Amino acid sequence: MFKVNENYLFLKESYLFSTIAEKVEKYKTTNPGADLIRLGIGDVTLPLPPSVIKAIHTSADEMGSRETFRGYGPEQGYSFLRDKIVEIDYLQKGIVIANDEVFISDGSKSDTGNIGDILGEENVVAITDPVYPVYLDTTIMRIGKSNKILLLECEEDNGFLPQLPKEHVDVVYLCYPNNPTGTVMTKSELKRWVDWALENNSLILFDSAYEAYIQDENVPKSIYEIENAERCAIEFRSFSKNAGFTGLRCSYTVVPMSLKTKLANGTEININKLWNRRQSTKFNGTPYIVQRAAEAIYTTEGQREVKEMVAYYMNNANIIRQGLINKGWRVFGGENSPYVWMKCPNGLDSWEFFDHLLNKCHIVGTPGVGFGSKGQGYFRLTAFNSLEKTVEAVERIISVQ
Ligand code: PLP
Repeated sequence: MFKVNENYLFLKESYLFSTIAEKVEKYKTTNPGADLIRLGIGDVTLPLPPSVIKAIHTSADEMGSRETFRGYGPEQGYSFLRDKIVEIDYLQKGIVIANDEVFISDGSKSDTGNIGDILGEENVVAITDPVYPVYLDTTIMRIGKSNKILLLECEEDNGFLPQLPKEHVDVVYLCYPNNPTGTVMTKSELKRWVDWALENNSLILFDSAYEAYIQDENVPKSIYEIENAERCAIEFRSFSKNAGFTGLRCSYTVVPMSLKTKLANGTEININKLWNRRQSTKFNGTPYIVQRAAEAIYTTEGQREVKEMVAYYMNNANIIRQGLINKGWRVFGGENSPYVWMKCPNGLDSWEFFDHLLNKCHIVGTPGVGFGSKGQGYFRLTAFNSLEKTVEAVERIISVQ
């Protein structure tokens, strides 16, 4: 009898989005005329920027001609894109990153999960609660439901930021601006984590999928803004939420050359080399057309277009945030993030509030408990709908008792 990876059996069935879909379907059947507004979506809704579309057309034509056709590309990504990332996302901001420290990929979801391939099973891994579920599930797939997974509870009292672990931790996933809470870490808060990691020889897996949404100058856009972070952190960045690439698929991961660890016998291991080996063995690169599309974001025009896109969503976030505050509800996030996180009013739990919003306002949101037990009693609304629908949703919320 062949065997399966039994760690998969420890995974909790994710009922969150299927339960939401079921409830919405049922509601639509019994209320066929109801005009539902979805503020639960984590996907973007604006179309791709014109300069990205132009690059897709041009590179598609290149693929149709023998002279310019491209087959397999470098597994790490084409230099034309890596160079732009290095120049615009890092060097221009005073952060020194080299081209061979950047790995182009097909999404931060893949990379934040796949990174586990190069990490030892004996590591203690810390993950926040609530959390973007990929970190937890991929860790369970790899090491099972063991006492090596430590949940860092994030609560209202500490601004939904995790405390430094008292126990020994080898690897920690941090995501700021955060999904689902929309909270951010200031430079000094993130510095405490970097100092902790350096002191404990731990690794920080820093997901900055939402860095484009940061408005506050005290909030670092990259973990490498913190001194010596290149010795303890891997950074994941995605084009999904800043440029609308959720359907196109492109992201990158920075693995600095100075990130090292030691074997028990003292041999030094270069993490960049390991990740390079993993990627060149298991991944054949992001499509040429998609990398050309991502390159277009770095043109003057592309930069302007993506800024406009983010500003559009941030305006929505602000409308939601202000509306809920005016309503007298306790609200978090939404200032440096497309996610607004709120305390469910009147002592309702996350699903009770979901039903309330659906039945009374015809609005669909996401119950906080779906992101972890510490999300119970909280709720996530997102800025990714249209301005018109967002305004209407907030009006409905305000007018309903
Ligand atoms: N990281 C976080 C925190 C996310 O919320 C998401 C998507 O919602 C991703 C990563 C996925 O990014 P990608 O589309 O690049 O796979």
